[in-house]
Amino acid sequence: MIARMKILLASPYELGRQPFSLAHPAAHLRADGHEVDLCDLTLGPMPWEAIGRYDLIGLSLGMHTATRIVMSLLPTLRARAKAAHIACYGLYGPANAALLKAAGVDSVLGAEFEGELTALAAHLAGRETPIARKVVYHVPDRRGLPPLARYAHVILPDGSRKTVGFVETTRGCKYLCRHCPVVPVYQGHFRAIPQDIVLADAEQQIARGAQHLSFGDPDFLNGPTHALKILAAVHARWPDVTFDATVKISHILRYQDLLPKFRSFGCLFLMSAAESFDDAVLAHLEKGHTGADIDRALQITRAAGIALTPTFVPFTPWTRLADYRTLLARVRDLALINSVTPIQLVIRLLVPERSALLDLPGFRALLRPYSPPELGYPWRNPDPRVDDLQLSAQAWVERAEQKGLSRFEAFAGLWDLTHAALREKAAPLDPAAAGPLSPHLSEPWYCCAEPTAAQLAAQAVGD
Ligand code: SF4
Repeated sequence: MIARMKILLASPYELGRQPFSLAHPAAHLRADGHEVDLCDLTLGPMPWEAIGRYDLIGLSLGMHTATRIVMSLLPTLRARAKAAHIACYGLYGPANAALLKAAGVDSVLGAEFEGELTALAAHLAGRETPIARKVVYHVPDRRGLPPLARYAHVILPDGSRKTVGFVETTRGCKYLCRHCPVVPVYQGHFRAIPQDIVLADAEQQIARGAQHLSFGDPDFLNGPTHALKILAAVHARWPDVTFDATVKISHILRYQDLLPKFRSFGCLFLMSAAESFDDAVLAHLEKGHTGADIDRALQITRAAGIALTPTFVPFTPWTRLADYRTLLARVRDLALINSVTPIQLVIRLLVPERSALLDLPGFRALLRPYSPPELGYPWRNPDPRVDDLQLSAQAWVERAEQKGLSRFEAFAGLWDLTHAALREKAAPLDPAAAGPLSPHLSEPWYCCAEPTAAQLAAQAVGD
């Protein structure tokens, strides 16, 4: 009978953030007496030499890319950690449970996993404890994670950098956007993380050098009162600490009166899932905003002195070739070229198992059978030129990223590719009209992007 388990928690990918998804369960498991090691696979390899010593290995599946990486990692892990109980947990766990179990995973836990994971560890240690029905929040225990300086940082327009701490104030979301992975799990609900926990987590990261806080909530204004209380408390204690957050377009419109206060509290930029300028696509996705609303949100944030960083899903089964050119033209005309991460301009709609898109009348007819390697339902655009353009555009953006090209240069390449696909002459782009370079995080990837071949290969071979 083992009373104290030797546990490894590993995160394959969390957008360049120091993983809350490791630090929070670590706090639970260490409080229960277990020995817990943490491994961020984006910054270091699995501890392969010591892997046989772990009784329990937990793998965090917070996003699509992470799940793809775990699937590629599992054959090696299962072969080398024969005696360990392997558990996967997080947003993408339940939808992929059958595949994960077939690949050797022993337990699959969902997004609200901390109680179950703690009870599982206790059970494996020979103790039975009741599973808490609601998540009890602890101050995340970040001991054993790489320093914040190794994670994504904020790059300011003058090229200077700020060390970033990553904080969450809520879980889930009160909206039901059809393409969103949060929806099948939270079904339109969100939960607030207690203010004292959030502030204690901010404090420990600021003490370790964070000059900026990135709020990782699915939507920071699901609970505006909660958000404002936290911002006021952070600003009162650390007036020089700046922040960014993700806020949906309709929230920017509804809560526009709050934005000057955000600015005074140190908001540098807001990310917002604009997704498309096409009202028909936005209606399919149930985004709750129109293309014109994006223009208004941009005016509101600019008036408040806050940069808006929109994200997009440009390639869908409904996208026509000319629509993509229209999207690029809107980005140009709104002087957003320097505000949009190039990867955002090549993202293809993902349709994972349990996606609310599957309930959209007629949508299943657009899909091919579920593809286990892709963890989703592949689709082909009715116009094969659109799929060809998406492939060449994605390859271009990856090359541009590797070469360190500017956002304008990456955009210009997409502009040329698109006009070539349309067999039209591209109007010249004016770099002076590309808009100001907005403050942004150095991590260029995105949770709904497919992993790169390099991301998958690095872990599959156990690098
Ligand atoms: S896309 Fe954003 S607003 Fe919509 S359900 Fe997901 S988290 Fe909520």
